[in-house]
Amino acid sequence: MERIDVTDGFSIHDHRRKLKLLKDSGDTRILEHRGGISCPACGETFDRLFVTEQSTTSFETPPDRPFCLARTDEKLLLITH
Ligand SMILES: [Zn+2]
Repeated sequence: MERIDVTDGFSIHDHRRKLKLLKDSGDTRILEHRGGISCPACGETFDRLFVTEQSTTSFETPPDRPFCLARTDEKLLLITH
């Protein structure tokens, strides 16, 4: 399984066939993992990927499963397992 590499940034287009776009509000996206890639932080498979270009973000509900964080120069990624 190919681990997501965030060393040179993160682009959804690099993983287009392995991620399904669930929600897109311009600078924030929620993606569902279809299989074949792994978490950039822990290397395990994951369920959802949240990506934002905003400098801050808030969540109204706590995640009900373990999660990892990763960042690039422009983006913050939250990966739920
Ligand atoms: Zn992880």
